[in-house]
Amino acid sequence: MVKIAVIGAGSLAWSATLVRDLCLTPSLGGSTITFMDIDEERLKLIHAFAERYASETGAKLVFEKTLDRRVAIRDSDVVINTAMAGGHSYYEKMRSVSEKHGYYRGINSVEWNMVSDYHTIWGYYQFKLALDVARDIEDLSPNAWLLQLANPVFELTTLISRETRVRVIGLCHGHLGYMEIASILGLDVRDIDFEAIGFNHVIWLTRFKHRGENAYPLIDDWIENNAEEYWRIWREEQVNPFNIQMSPAAVDMYKVYGLFPIGDTVRGGTWKYHWNLETKRKWYGSLAGPDSETGWEVYLNMLKYNFDTIASAIGGEAPLTTVLPPQLSLESVVPIINSLVNDEEGVYQVNVLNNGVIEGLPDDVAVEIPAKIDGKGVHGMQVEKLPKRVVNYVLCPRMMRMEWALEAFLEGGRDTLFEWLITDPRTNSTEQVNQVIDDLLLMPENLEMAKHFK
Ligand code: NAD
Repeated sequence: MVKIAVIGAGSLAWSATLVRDLCLTPSLGGSTITFMDIDEERLKLIHAFAERYASETGAKLVFEKTLDRRVAIRDSDVVINTAMAGGHSYYEKMRSVSEKHGYYRGINSVEWNMVSDYHTIWGYYQFKLALDVARDIEDLSPNAWLLQLANPVFELTTLISRETRVRVIGLCHGHLGYMEIASILGLDVRDIDFEAIGFNHVIWLTRFKHRGENAYPLIDDWIENNAEEYWRIWREEQVNPFNIQMSPAAVDMYKVYGLFPIGDTVRGGTWKYHWNLETKRKWYGSLAGPDSETGWEVYLNMLKYNFDTIASAIGGEAPLTTVLPPQLSLESVVPIINSLVNDEEGVYQVNVLNNGVIEGLPDDVAVEIPAKIDGKGVHGMQVEKLPKRVVNYVLCPRMMRMEWALEAFLEGGRDTLFEWLITDPRTNSTEQVNQVIDDLLLMPENLEMAKHFK
């Protein structure tokens, strides 16, 4: 019997999709899913949701809930981590303290990581939680697979792979951005063969084929002949700040770095795209992209709306399948579990240590690549070569930020924060750096973190 533990299961938006996909995968029938969270209310909700959804869909699954992480992890085959320490409101507070000192969108936002819940340098508690989960696995279910869904996937997959013996796979759905490109070009996604590689949230379209033919010329043709008209309408009608896969920012990155950026990659880039709200509007449309003050507010409201919708559906009479129709999502989490525990080979987009797959990058850094997964584990596949521009101007600088964040977490000391900030283009003086560090570490929530960075 397969046991799956979900840590941070109260992330209702995530867990509801997970429950649906599990219920619709008969080959995982008979499995036990143990939800764990520190928030008892959320835990009760997801447990009630799962039991009802399974009974409506006739799934043969057993659902348990616990506030004790070790109980959830003990004897698991797979552990899914979706937990975010502190919650969104904690990071919004740190953002506003940073902004008082001239660090727009927070000290965490840097070149190639502008994503507002990808917490690196200020993610002390998030790193600690992820490492604690991995250590529990080492102790209580050493053969389990850890599926790391909570961000920052790049930093945490690298950290856990280096510091523990746990078999970890980082997962993200950002690579599905290739489907948006296909659909905007008017191509049937089933005819597309793609490859997008790099680091999580920094992946580049190394292969884009339509019915076996290189389809990059179709992108070039679209830029030449259709982009302006598309952007005119897109600027007027944009309601979703995440609708940026074919934005001016994406096209500009393609021109500068030589390959098309995929998914969350478009949210990154240098400060050229992010100086302020006006700059963001120019590159990402009227809502200024998901990582502006306007776009992020839309996202946080949407999370709340999704949560409330599911919570009220649980209390209501209508079948849950009317709220969340019984169709498999595009998420790879459940198919990967199936491949691992039932030895059914599949190809997935994963984050694992490089170990020679991407040329020009170190072995002990987590890369995002396609890989075969079966009962024996993850098998990296041969991939295309990345252009020098992408490696030297994007991946290497991003990798250094990852190394600095890991060092800050593992070794502590105020100098690690200082060095992070002194190279930031928003920094005008040493005093500014010292003041923002002082104010962040003075937050009551950061008592423990302040000791670490003393
Ligand atoms: P959320 O705050 O709604 O959910 C996180 C859950 O973690 C909450 O229920 C919280 O109570 C729980 N939690 C906090 N501390 C915990 C602890 N010590 N032990 C157990 N549970 C704990 O956040 P969210 O918006 O659902 O995001 C969750 C994570 O998923 C974030 O890191 C986010 O960046 C990430 N995310 C990843 C992807 C991806 O494709 N990989 C996509 C979206 C979001």
